[in-house]
Amino acid sequence: MKFDTVIKNGVVVTATDTFPSDVGITDGKVAAFAVDLPLESAERVLDARGNYLFPGGIDVHTHLDMPFGGTTSADDFESGTIAAAFGGTTTLVDFAIQYKGQTLRTALDTWWGKAHGKAVIDYGFHCIITDLPDARLDEMKALVREGISSFKLFMAYPGVFMVEDALIFKAMLSAAQTGSLICMHAENGGAIDVIVQRALAEGKTAPKYHALTRPTTAEAEATGRAIALAEMAGAPVYIVHLSCSEALDRVREARDRGVAAYAETCPQYLFLSLDNFDVPGFEGAKYVFTPPLREKWHQEKLWNGLANDQLQVVSTDHCPFCYKEQKELGRDNFTKIPNGGPGIEHRLSLVFTGGVHGARFSVNRFVELVSTNPARLFGLYPRKGTIAVGSDADLVIFDPNQDQTISASTHHMRVDYSMFEGIKVKGVPRQVLSRGQLVVDQNKFVGRAGHGEFIKRQTYSQP
Ligand SMILES: [Zn+2]
Repeated sequence: MKFDTVIKNGVVVTATDTFPSDVGITDGKVAAFAVDLPLESAERVLDARGNYLFPGGIDVHTHLDMPFGGTTSADDFESGTIAAAFGGTTTLVDFAIQYKGQTLRTALDTWWGKAHGKAVIDYGFHCIITDLPDARLDEMKALVREGISSFKLFMAYPGVFMVEDALIFKAMLSAAQTGSLICMHAENGGAIDVIVQRALAEGKTAPKYHALTRPTTAEAEATGRAIALAEMAGAPVYIVHLSCSEALDRVREARDRGVAAYAETCPQYLFLSLDNFDVPGFEGAKYVFTPPLREKWHQEKLWNGLANDQLQVVSTDHCPFCYKEQKELGRDNFTKIPNGGPGIEHRLSLVFTGGVHGARFSVNRFVELVSTNPARLFGLYPRKGTIAVGSDADLVIFDPNQDQTISASTHHMRVDYSMFEGIKVKGVPRQVLSRGQLVVDQNKFVGRAGHGEFIKRQTYSQP
């Protein structure tokens, strides 16, 4: 058997197994496992001694090159996917936005244009629906056939993205028919808007009021409502960026009853808290994203949720805006601060540090949370999300004991600050392969813009 690449001496880790093995790669796919694969015919040999070999990370929540709040997120599909690869992520699912009056297809065409020729790793799209008259319902089905097997709806941002319950319910009925998955931004946007207007009238304009005007109850209420609508529609539902204990309770209660409710959280909710707003001047704007940071005690609840399968995925909600000139748009009014933070690069290291080194869950559960579950829920499995004969050779050679201090001075995201500045992680990707090609090699980018391909996703399967 002839291999393009053999990875020697690694410890292969999947969601279920951990075993020492060489891995042979042919034509971009995993072709063989054995303790001593013959090396004579291999064109390239990588030595993974002392390292884990993970399936590439899958980040199902990113916003590259996205217009928002009068500006555009700072990473495009080239810089964003490079940063992702440095962090061990080899597939993204980003969001194509349908604006009011547009066809869903227009959204997809626009985002294909943004990604094509730029991405260095593979990608898919969810479609954000903001407008769904009955005549447009068939477009959802057409999109599923094109490999867009998930849709996102907002219960927040009135006048921009927010949609009413009837629309959500209709979309869920359609999803139930096609096997697609509805992703929900669950916050009660109407109530939040009233609280926000009252705060502004009282002269509360500093960044921290973004967080203080979005109570956990608003997230919990919308989470419960989204799950109830899905239950009535007979559809699965996926709650994005769950941030607090109260919302987690709703997901857990539903899952205990056997409802197909799933949720992700993000590293910012696991590592940061309201305390991060204790910084001078306007710097709190660096932590303005939605849902907002919560009191510190929520962090342990979320870790516990990840360990006990109340939460199934860690994604990033990467939506970077520079502090200078972008975040500064809201200097006098927190509602004008573009919402979002940069996180695409550090997801694996942060979750590995807090989860595996923190003794909260196993290395297999780690792989499940950052790769296998997202692959299953979003129709990428088993092509991606595992290491098996025939699966894409999207692989991460990961040193579990290497230390790194996160800093804007060394990261690869095109943004002038880090949310995680100064945080020490243990566990860093050393080499990253996308379909058998090295993308990152010992701290150097060796990939190519345009290598990343659009992945036509299958429909949802239960994790
Ligand atoms: Zn988002």
